[in-house]
Parts: sequence; structure tokens; C-alpha cells
Amino acid sequence: MTRMLACSDLACCLIQVHGHKGVQFQNWAKTYGCCPEMYYQPTSVEEIREVLALARQQNKRVKVVGGGHSPSDIACTDGFMIHMGKMNRVLKVDKEKKQVTVEAGILLADLHPQLDKHGLSLSNLGAVSDVTAGGVIGTGTHNTGVKHGILPTQVVALTLLTADGVLLECSKSSNADVFQAARVHLGCLGVILTITLQCVPQFHLLETSFPSTLKEVLDNLDSHLKKSEYFRFLWFPHSENVSIIYQDHTNKPPSSSASWFWDYAIGFYLLEFLLWTSTFLPFLVSWINRFFFWLLFTRKRENSHVSHKIFTYECRFKQHVQDWAIPREKTKEALLELKNMLEANPKVVAHYPVEVRFTRGDDILLSPCFQRDSCYMNIIMYRPYGKDVPRLDYWLAYETIMKKFGGRPHWAKAHNCTRKDFEKMYPAFPKFCAIRERLDPTGMFLNTYLEKVFY
Ligand SMILES: Cc1cc2nc3c(=O)[nH]c(=O)nc-3n(C[C@H](O)[C@H](O)[C@H](O)COP(=O)(O)OP(=O)(O)OC[C@H]3O[C@@H](n4cnc5c(N)ncnc54)[C@H](O)[C@@H]3O)c2cc1C
Repeated sequence: MTRMLACSDLACCLIQVHGHKGVQFQNWAKTYGCCPEMYYQPTSVEEIREVLALARQQNKRVKVVGGGHSPSDIACTDGFMIHMGKMNRVLKVDKEKKQVTVEAGILLADLHPQLDKHGLSLSNLGAVSDVTAGGVIGTGTHNTGVKHGILPTQVVALTLLTADGVLLECSKSSNADVFQAARVHLGCLGVILTITLQCVPQFHLLETSFPSTLKEVLDNLDSHLKKSEYFRFLWFPHSENVSIIYQDHTNKPPSSSASWFWDYAIGFYLLEFLLWTSTFLPFLVSWINRFFFWLLFTRKRENSHVSHKIFTYECRFKQHVQDWAIPREKTKEALLELKNMLEANPKVVAHYPVEVRFTRGDDILLSPCFQRDSCYMNIIMYRPYGKDVPRLDYWLAYETIMKKFGGRPHWAKAHNCTRKDFEKMYPAFPKFCAIRERLDPTGMFLNTYLEKVFY
């Protein structure tokens, strides 16, 4: 097995060697980090078993890390860290069933071209593909589309190596209770080794974005949801402005409205500079939100391409985020309450956008969409030139509103909830806890983040 003492190819996450104590880990946004005592990059199940045996012997904790993209400390540990980057193969493509079996460490960015070759696609994706199959299902990654569940709903089978080195094959027909838990596993049930994903025939998407207002989009929510398979919208806080985004199947040839000047010179370099300036003059944020809407979002834009190139986009800014799922029918009330809160508290500033997405309910025990169709409301505070902008008041007010409307936080993103909250939020919380305690009685796969969830 490999003990890492040099920077890995995942340079964004693993940045510095610390003698014999292993490497330093930082998440993508550089908002959380840790110094694992030992760092492993196994290439086989046997090597992982050895790490787990050592951890049992020395009473150490273990954390598996995928792409390191979670904007919280969910993947952090001061014990043993297992990075799955070398267990990243496509193991099987079943063209008839349109299913693909992959090792859990595969980056979706590496999976897409392989699926392209077989004329297959994933039916839905999050905003980035530098994330692993195991990580995506670890935290319940989602996109949008009322007919579509969160990404873990695409999983039809998986294999899990438990704390005592036992390999469990899980699907609806085998270890069904573990399967129902492990599709959003939080990294606390064991090491996910392989995942079988249900795919669909490859498809192209046409993305159309156009301006609107908050009133219009909230008054006509059902109509927008019916009109576009992957409908979402961006609200620009401190204003009425909204950018609506439709994504739908198309036969049109690939086309792009991308422009270096507008996307980078204005949408990144100028914006970052102005956001940094606003850290000294916070009243500027409201003006920035309006000005950039006017500059970048008032024209209708169209792009078309193979689906994974439309679903994902380049996230240029390091940022803090919160993203809670509330019952879909509460969207209007909750968003208006957020708007009213900002109007009543002019000192609370909110960067654009608030991104609003929709997902179908499911039966995964700790899915934020468990048994209900949901609306995800993602708020954001950028870190211009790496500088943290005060966000506590905004964060607390947002969390209070989300809780009031029955919200459940995204597992990947930092939140202030504890076990007491989760017991209220998740009807199946006791069932998940019982499965976790059965599979990992000593808490080998826990860390500080998970202690708040389970203790
Ligand atoms: C720029 C950016 C854009 C994003 N966009 C979206 C979005 O559109 N929608 C959305 O829902 N989320 C989004 N996210 C969040 C992201 O999808 C999740 O954080 C996802 O979990 C990241 O995958 P990862 O491979 O980096 O996982 P990591 O952050 O490395 O790990 C996540 C969890 O999974 C566990 N884990 C990983 N692999 C395994 C394994 N093989 N076995 C056991 N446990 C494992 C880890 O211990 C940890 O608990 C975004 C994040 C960023 C930074």
C-alpha cells in the first residue's frame, strides 16, 4: 500500500507534506482542512483491508476522501485518511440494461468520456465533475428537475467494505436495508468500493437563460416546472431580478454563447475586484448584484451540447455555501421571507446568486428529499482573493427560515445542526443510526462533523 509523502495529482486538496505525519488536506474551497496522521492511496481492496486492520489494532479513526469538494469538514480527519484516487476504473458496462459499474474513486469527469464511447449518459449531474462517484453519493449531491431525484437515486447497486473488513453487496434485493442507507452514506458506514449506476441513452441539451422577476417566477412556478425538464433560477438578492434557466433535450448541433470578455474579464476578474472592494464598503453589494445582472443576465442566451457539458460549469470563485432542501410547496413563502429579512436588515449583505433548484422525492434514509418533492435554496458568500466576508448574520437568518419551513441541510455544506435537529427532520433517522451502529460499532468512520450528527 502507498503512504503518501508527496503532493498528489489532486493538487487542489493535498497541498503540503508534513514529515512523517502525512499530508495536509484542504477542501476545494480552502475553507476546511486537516492533518491526517497517516495518508493512504490504496490500489486494491486488500490494501484497504490492511488499513482497516491497522486502524482496528491501533484504535484509530478512518476517513475516506473522494474529490475533496465538500464545502464542509465532512471529509476531514486527524486519524487515517484513505484517498480513493487510484481505485477509479470503469469495471463493467451493461449496454442492454444501460448500467455502468465503476470503482468509487472515479471522477465523474473521467467517467463521462467513457460513457460517451458507449452512447450513454447520466440522467442528471451536479454543477461540477471533479467529484467522485463515492463522494457524490456520500453527501446526496443534487441538481434540478422535478422528474429527477438527487444523484444517488441513479445508483442501483454498490459494494461496501465495513469496519471489520467484511464486503457487503447491496441493492434492492441484497442487503436492502443497508442499500437504503448507503446511497447517502455520509462516509460513516464503511468504504464504498464500487457503484453501479443506471444510465440513459446519450442526449444533448439546449440551455436557454433569460431575465425575469422574482414575482413572475414565484407566481408561475408550476408553469416553469412543467415547461422545462431541468428548470432552475437564480435570484439576485437586494433586488427583484431573476435569471431563469431552462435545460431541455435537443437535436440542435453544439453551440455556445461563451465569451472570454464577458465570462472572465467582467464576470470573474472585475467581479472579484468589486466584491473585494465591497468588503470595506458593504453597501456596494446591493449595487454589484444589480449592476452584474444588468451587465450579464439581461440578454437571452442559448448553449447546446452533450448533456454533461451543459449540466456542469466552471466554478471560478472559492466560496462559502449553504443549501437546504425544503418541501417544494414552500418555495414561494420561504424565498419571500428571505427577501423580507434582507430588506428589514440592510446591514446583512448577500452575494448573488441565490440558486433555486427542484428535485423529486425518494426513499433514501438520509436524503434531504426523503419522502417529499423538494426545493433546494443555495446561498453563497464568495471569498474574493481568499478573503472571508462576514456572513454570520445572513447564515443564521437563512437557517432560521429554512428550519421554519421544514428544511434539511445539504450534507456536504456547512450547517449548525446537531443530532436533535436531525431526529426532528428525518423520520428514518433512528433506522439509519441503527444500521450505522451495527456496521461500525466502534465509530471508526466518525469525525468531528459526524459526531455532531450522531452524538
Ligand atoms: C464548485 C462546487 C460545485 C458543487 N456543486 C454542487 C451541486 O451542483 N449540487 C450539489 O448537491 N453539490 C454540489 N457540490 C458539493 C459536492 O457535490 C459534494 O461535496 C460531493 O460530495 C463532492 O464529492 P467528492 O468526491 O469531492 O467528495 P468528498 O468531499 O471527498 O467526500 C464527501 C463525503 O463522502 C465520503 N466519501 C467519499 N468517497 C467515499 C468512499 N469511496 N467510501 C466512503 N466514503 C466516501 C467522504 O468521507 C465524505 O464524507 C459542489 C461543490 C463544489 C466545490
